[in-house]
Amino acid sequence: MIDLKNDFPILSKKIYGKRLVYLDNAATSHKPSSVIDTISDFYRSDYSNIHRGVHYLSEISSDKYENARKKVSKFIGTSDPSEITFTAGTTDSINQVACSLKSILKGNEVLISGMEHHSNIVPWQLAGAKIKTIPMDDECNLLVDSIEITDKIKLIAISHASNVLGSVNPIKEITEIAKENDIPVLVDAAQSIQHLPLDVEEIGCDFLAASGHKMYAATGIGILYTSERFSDIMPARGGGGMIDKVTLESTTYLSPPLRYEAGTPNIAGAISVGAAIDYMQDIGLDKIRRHEHKVYSHARKRLLETDGLKVYGNNEDMCGSISFNLDNIHHYDTGLILDKMGIAVRTGHHCAQPLMGSLGTEGTVRASFALYNTKEDVDMLMEGIEKVRMMYS
Ligand SMILES: *Cc1c(COP(=O)(O)O)cnc(C)c1O
Repeated sequence: MIDLKNDFPILSKKIYGKRLVYLDNAATSHKPSSVIDTISDFYRSDYSNIHRGVHYLSEISSDKYENARKKVSKFIGTSDPSEITFTAGTTDSINQVACSLKSILKGNEVLISGMEHHSNIVPWQLAGAKIKTIPMDDECNLLVDSIEITDKIKLIAISHASNVLGSVNPIKEITEIAKENDIPVLVDAAQSIQHLPLDVEEIGCDFLAASGHKMYAATGIGILYTSERFSDIMPARGGGGMIDKVTLESTTYLSPPLRYEAGTPNIAGAISVGAAIDYMQDIGLDKIRRHEHKVYSHARKRLLETDGLKVYGNNEDMCGSISFNLDNIHHYDTGLILDKMGIAVRTGHHCAQPLMGSLGTEGTVRASFALYNTKEDVDMLMEGIEKVRMMYS
């Protein structure tokens, strides 16, 4: 068992005098000292705007920013850093794709799963597309064989791992179907980039979106991978830094990635993503995955053994999140009582109201894990759940 809590300053904080058991990592994860130091060192000694100046600090800042882009591109398996755009987050990445593809999507359909986060639903609706869903079984697993492709479907947009259930979706099977029908695929990797190996070329998707803040980096920074095939789509945003030539009549744009990064980007945020990738790679991705798998399986096993507790979803491949409810106890009450014991979980619909409809509940309690969680954290959660139950019996 690895215990990385000492790398994360906030995890030594006492909550109501108790040790913090942070199980809300699907909402956001904490930052290791190495990431915090990278951000503060950058502002202290290297900071300037990028790609604009010829001066010393601007060159250092530009190098660091572009170096972060290279790290991201390697981390998700592209050989070409120009396929990586820095955005403000997963939501922003998806909205940018929706905006760029608007003329194709308008009046047509986007095929998604029934477990998508609102940020993989609403942008398509704003672009004027109708939403279709891939059928699911009783345990919320996608029935890929039941996918019906029509001419109306112009994009498949699918989460790699569910932020509610933790189920890992068969994205490779989906991209294969998409390829046969020449439909582009967007993968929402907000809940997988920090847990699973990601290789966009192997997955065969055209777009992939993720957030820095869920992978131990800063807030307000996101990643958008765009395959070379889509390298000349219309930019969603216009402004400085993305143009080749501007006249009052018309404008030509730079090549990607700068084409998609109008305005001053979140420079420190991008650099923090690079530092977070370094942090994970220094520990070893395999080691992290093995550890997370042990903790996650322990949590699932203990929750499933608990009488009067319903666990939602069941897939042979799961990571990150587990959702449950205690019989006759509102999810919000469970969350409030756990909080008083220093245990941070999320309650509610988790930005996935359509999925809540399928589960037949308004909300769940969600425990979600990061590399710093341990089996002891799970045991504390289980003690907490016992106490909640006693209070209500
Ligand atoms: C968190 C999350 C998002 C949105 O990410 P932001 O960082 O809030 O933009 C999208 N999809 C999934 C699956 C998520 O978990």
